[in-house]
Amino acid sequence: MVDGFRPETLREALKLRKQYDCLPIAGGTDLMVQKARGFALKPDFEKPLLFIGHLPELHKIVIEKNQIHIGAGVLLTDLVNSDIIPEIFKEAVCRMASPASRNLASLGGNICNASPAGDTLPYLYAVDAKLVLKSVSSERIVPIGEFITGPKQTDLEHAELLTEIIIPNKLFNVNYYRKVGQRKGMSLTKAAFLGMADVENRKLTDIRIAFGSVAQTVVRSREIETDIIGKSSGEYINAIPTILKQYAPLIRPIDDARSSAIYRKKVSLRLLEDFLMRLN
Ligand SMILES: Cc1cc2nc3c(=O)[nH]c(=O)nc-3n(C[C@H](O)[C@H](O)[C@H](O)COP(=O)(O)OP(=O)(O)OC[C@H]3O[C@@H](n4cnc5c(N)ncnc54)[C@H](O)[C@@H]3O)c2cc1C
Repeated sequence: MVDGFRPETLREALKLRKQYDCLPIAGGTDLMVQKARGFALKPDFEKPLLFIGHLPELHKIVIEKNQIHIGAGVLLTDLVNSDIIPEIFKEAVCRMASPASRNLASLGGNICNASPAGDTLPYLYAVDAKLVLKSVSSERIVPIGEFITGPKQTDLEHAELLTEIIIPNKLFNVNYYRKVGQRKGMSLTKAAFLGMADVENRKLTDIRIAFGSVAQTVVRSREIETDIIGKSSGEYINAIPTILKQYAPLIRPIDDARSSAIYRKKVSLRLLEDFLMRLN
């Protein structure tokens, strides 16, 4: 037996979270792998579990004041089936794991797991997603880039749960997402690239660029994006070599079982170049 609590409401969950040193579990698709000890052995959970995946308060997807509010317990499958979620985000989610895993895995779990290879993260960084962190007596809203502090590290406090993810209800007119893995389905990311832009009258009015799996956390540079915004098509095409040079030092992948650092860096810069060429 694994010890755990199964609250009926979010409020009850927050009370338990405050009262006990317990580990939130939503779909368990990360935790069950991380804590597995082998066939027929119970997983090695050092703390009681707090089951939150079933809480109705964590399952909404709604638009309020032109922002999309997504409950932390929303399943990856539900994101893909939603009419509200932007297609480019769905494209990234569709490439994650398998249909069976996506039926269990939550958006909040992918964020709180804080893997540099988390596939929902490049989009969430690119749109400046905000996270609602609640305890029984407080609520704070934190930008995702401040919440994730390193590989597998977050700013989540002892008594808190991630309850909601807020993204702008905005579509870009150019959208580009590539996940490079061993194969098309069921593969963990070697490198991911997401680019979005608004081009009006051949002038760039907005651009967002995010790289996954090539540094300690998602790579996004507002400074470089601001340099590019406002350029006309001829100007930014001429600037591509400079832009590649600006991003190169920010991309600092590691060698691991999935890929080599050199491959990851090369392919990431090629994807950036391909995206920029398509803006013309
Ligand atoms: C076969 C397989 C393939 C996979 N493929 C991919 C892939 O392609 N891309 C990818 O990015 N991931 C992949 N994953 C990882 C995993 O499926 C995702 O990260 C998933 O979104 C995790 O969600 P979950 O609900 O299962 O999280 P859980 O395992 O329940 O939790 C993960 C972490 O988040 C914490 N947590 C969860 N919810 C909350 C909350 N609301 N508040 C505070 N803390 C919380 C937990 O305590 C835990 O530390 C794969 C996993 C498996 C097993």
